[in-house]
Amino acid sequence: MSKIDWSNLSFGYMKADYNVRCIYKDGKWGDLEISQSEQVNMHMAATVLHYGQAGFEGLKAFRGKDGKIRVFRMDENGKRLISTCRGIMMAELPLEKFEEAVKKVVKLNEHLVPPYESGCSLYIRPVLFGTGPQVGVKPAEEYEFIVFVMPVGPYFKEGFKATPVCILRHYDRAAPFGTGRYKVGGNYAASLIAGEEAHTKGYSAVLYLDAREKKYIDECGPANFFGIREKEYITPESESILPSITNKSLMTLAKDMGMTVEQRRVPVEELLTFSEVGMCGTAAVISPISKIDDLDENKSYVFSEEGKPGPVCTALYNKLRAIQYGDEADKFNWITIIE
Ligand SMILES: *Cc1c(COP(=O)(O)O)cnc(C)c1O
Repeated sequence: MSKIDWSNLSFGYMKADYNVRCIYKDGKWGDLEISQSEQVNMHMAATVLHYGQAGFEGLKAFRGKDGKIRVFRMDENGKRLISTCRGIMMAELPLEKFEEAVKKVVKLNEHLVPPYESGCSLYIRPVLFGTGPQVGVKPAEEYEFIVFVMPVGPYFKEGFKATPVCILRHYDRAAPFGTGRYKVGGNYAASLIAGEEAHTKGYSAVLYLDAREKKYIDECGPANFFGIREKEYITPESESILPSITNKSLMTLAKDMGMTVEQRRVPVEELLTFSEVGMCGTAAVISPISKIDDLDENKSYVFSEEGKPGPVCTALYNKLRAIQYGDEADKFNWITIIE
């Protein structure tokens, strides 16, 4: 592969040299296979195509000052994929196999892990889907698991910055007892139209309310939500939000920094009491929110005037990134070094 210009990387697909695959057939997972192909060959009646049996994960590897490659909390991603498999009746991939595949694909594409100074990282995308044919509505009997990688640029190219989001009540991304808590492709399909409307209106994301009553905050399209009030970190509890590993890590860090952490239902009006709010997920760690426009109620909650992130968001962001890049000690045991 030719030289990559790390300073111009964004978040998008880029071909890597290798991906790692595993097939489930005859009631069991086979051995991990190394592939150089970008294609998948499957039956036209595969359940992924008709009935949406597809789940995915997203995690990152970082190169430290010491040149070592660190993968962040991959066991948590592996466990969440198992939960997703259970949620939509796919064959469960054992945690050990998941971890082995992640380590292998990173090692094989080691030269694509960007240098420390670039602020870039290697994005790792595991995906698992039903490849076996069914026309009656039933789970497939065959599955494929693939992990591929690509180098990605820093999320905040012009520095850590807050952006506006909006509330739109005429869309839901997931139902209360539906698939919101699983990382499935269908939730994303359901959120595309709202996302498009938000982007057209100049917002970076939609903040979804609970689908039942539209009274409580759920999460943003691809990221969890949190609010800061003095020394409190508050994040919604709901049966339709995806348990973000970044959010879980921020809760640990907030406690460690002497804050109290509350995970509970958060009524929309409580937005008035927060000094800072943000979205969190693997892509950005924290994406601070400058204002929330409630477009149905004609209300606006403003948190920062010129897109300047608040002090708590900034401190949490710096702390988590420092652990990921190995600048700070891994005191919670979140890092796997790829040897
Ligand atoms: C992946 C995802 C997140 C973020 O999870 P992380 O583990 O922090 O990357 C949040 N919400 C939804 C809906 C997601 O799919």
